[in-house]
Amino acid sequence: MTVRIGIAGAAGRMGRALIAAIREREDCSLSALSLHRQEDAARLADLGASLPAPAPDAHALFAASDVVIDFTRPDAGIDHAAIAADTNTPLIVGTTGFTESEEHVLAVAGKRTALFRAANFSLGIALLGHLVRRAAHVLDEDFDIEIHEMHHRRKVDAPSGTALALGDAAARGRGQTDRSRFAAGDRSGQRLPGDIGFSVLRGGDVVGEHEVVFAGAGERLILGHRADDRMIFARGAVRAALWIIGREPGLYGMDDLLGLKE
Ligand code: NAD
Repeated sequence: MTVRIGIAGAAGRMGRALIAAIREREDCSLSALSLHRQEDAARLADLGASLPAPAPDAHALFAASDVVIDFTRPDAGIDHAAIAADTNTPLIVGTTGFTESEEHVLAVAGKRTALFRAANFSLGIALLGHLVRRAAHVLDEDFDIEIHEMHHRRKVDAPSGTALALGDAAARGRGQTDRSRFAAGDRSGQRLPGDIGFSVLRGGDVVGEHEVVFAGAGERLILGHRADDRMIFARGAVRAALWIIGREPGLYGMDDLLGLKE
């Protein structure tokens, strides 16, 4: 069976990479795509004439697809999650930067359909999360944890969803279940023991760099990842789209896909 995949926001950086990733495979096809604005169509012109015509609205995108992939903006992601829930269509969400109340909407949608979320679809980052959790568990609070990320100049949310997910992994390693020890805003003044700090760089065309630093007395452990090509995210998302077909409603992530669940 060829799985029919729909892409929301197909003219974006990730949307275009997703089209290429679907075209690499024979077990899936691009069934439909949506654009945010009409002028976005010009950004797809170099991808060839074989693209489906843009869907008139998000409902038509879902109606034409076995599974939809969303790398757009949080407000659009929320709308798409609601349609996925109403139509029982699996949804892959790569969009980052959701507020707490938007996170809640996604969790509710995940009770009615199969919803796959990852702040980062690369295998390397999935493994990095495990290493960070383990290191935070083994090292005591004398080791300060700092998370450093850099992305291209057009990225909107900060710190990146991946940096926050790595912070979650570090917090879990320390036995914490929330983000109360995250220090991401004004960093003036002395560092508080036990805080998990974030620093952000934006510039150029950097696809994604993350480093987690465990800074102790006289030594530093540095675990990091560099993404050089956004095709790694696109291939991961398409793999997730094929994996999620036929799954029960629920929230799934990279640990499920890669069999890394502890
Ligand atoms: P981008 O700005 O290049 O593309 C976003 C696209 O979404 C644009 O084409 C925009 O027109 C479209 N869009 C906005 N609102 C829409 C709507 N209502 N309906 C349909 N389309 C809409 O951004 P990008 O670099 O492709 O990133 C998109 C998102 O994916 C961001 O949140 C980014 O952080 C995230 N991202 C996640 C991963 C991952 O592995 N999870 C990797 C890269 C980027």
